[in-house]
Amino acid sequence: MTNRYAEMREKAARVREQALFPSQRIPSELELQARWFAGDFGKQFLTTNGDKIDIVQFGIWNREAGPDFSDAAIRLNGSEPIRGNIEFDLSDRNWEAHGHAINPAFENTMLHVFVHASDRTFFARTRSNREVPQVRVDPNALPETFSANLPLARPGRCQAPLKDLPEERVRSVLDAAAQFRLQRKAAQIRNKIDNHGRDEALFQQLAAALGYKENKLPFTLLTQRLPLKLLRRQSTDCEALLFGIAGFLQASDLDVYERSTRKYVRQLWDNWWPHRDELQRLILPGKVWRLSGTRPLNHPQRRVAALAALARNWPAFQRSSGKGNSAAASEFLQGLDHPFWNFHYTLTADASPKEMALIGESRIAEILANVLFPFWLAEDADSSTPLAPRRAGRTSLWPQYAKLPARLSNRRLETAATRLFGSDPRRLLFTKTVAHQQGLLQIYEDFCMQDNSDCAHCPFPEQMRKWT
Ligand code: SF4
Repeated sequence: MTNRYAEMREKAARVREQALFPSQRIPSELELQARWFAGDFGKQFLTTNGDKIDIVQFGIWNREAGPDFSDAAIRLNGSEPIRGNIEFDLSDRNWEAHGHAINPAFENTMLHVFVHASDRTFFARTRSNREVPQVRVDPNALPETFSANLPLARPGRCQAPLKDLPEERVRSVLDAAAQFRLQRKAAQIRNKIDNHGRDEALFQQLAAALGYKENKLPFTLLTQRLPLKLLRRQSTDCEALLFGIAGFLQASDLDVYERSTRKYVRQLWDNWWPHRDELQRLILPGKVWRLSGTRPLNHPQRRVAALAALARNWPAFQRSSGKGNSAAASEFLQGLDHPFWNFHYTLTADASPKEMALIGESRIAEILANVLFPFWLAEDADSSTPLAPRRAGRTSLWPQYAKLPARLSNRRLETAATRLFGSDPRRLLFTKTVAHQQGLLQIYEDFCMQDNSDCAHCPFPEQMRKWT
């Protein structure tokens, strides 16, 4: 089944060559962007230089730093579709004023849309000095009705055939895509094991998962600079070393901490000081951490404490996770605790009256899905049927993996579900397990993200009809 998905993916790669607003109300930038995305301004425009622009696809909303819409496609004077991002601003001067010209996140922008033209001309240029075509849109030409419901993405062409497919067939495609993804992750981990050895590779992967998307880099740096082997040798100072290298022990004044915290920080300092001079060069700069947008419960300081707990308890973790048994691994991770971090969000926060888990349920699910299962599979590389490992004492992986319940969703997943399933009432049913979520993401990356034709030339809908 996995091979069938791989074939389908390859075939796709071959095909790929290819209202007026009430006058008394000024629409907000967000509303104008929503109407742009809905296609209310049209799909054909002339740039400020007189070039012809056709919007082939509007892309998806980008709710993170960078241009407003990513993965869009346009034709310039009838050219082949050009894929890239679109920035929508209220004024032409905002490209300059908002620093897009020097921001690397805007490098791949291929269209700058604006509403108000300034008295003088403002060009849009990227950091590499490439000129970005500009289009001016007129809100006065918009149809009047507007739904305030901002969709993340629009349903794609495959929504119709998928709706008519029996549930079993959809599940089978999602399973195949999930198995393909799991095997690909396992292959990446195998490389890491070859480069760093089994335990270091696993420790690095766990750290990256504890860093979430925002702080994956600093957590990876931490484990590269403080390998598990070193932390195990220094097990008494292990937590202090991690906090020190993370740059979380820079303030020398204990008065900045709450009384209940001082004892804990003092202990960290006492253990960190003897190493500080020697390791000074390795301390991570503060700017590498991303703290905004992180839920307090997921603050990197709590996660560094969790990483220290893992390093300290490594032999026990190995025993619980070594058999490819997700229940045992999950139980071990749930059991990790810490007298300070069970009650604190950060070093400077007041103590919480309510106890919190050092690693919560949703993070454990993430660790199982993205670290431990791929890792177990990677270790069974010599098996001819890798999803049914033959190692002595190991339980078969796929049935366990297929049952993992999904704890979280995210924008990418919601976008993928909207593209493929639209308003199909079975949408929730198809995103209930980790495996199906991963399968959906794989299809989204392999087909939606490679498509330049607003679904017209995407082979997925036809291949779905043939899937048995
Ligand atoms: S690009 Fe393909 S897979 Fe994605 S929504 Fe369109 S038809 Fe479906």
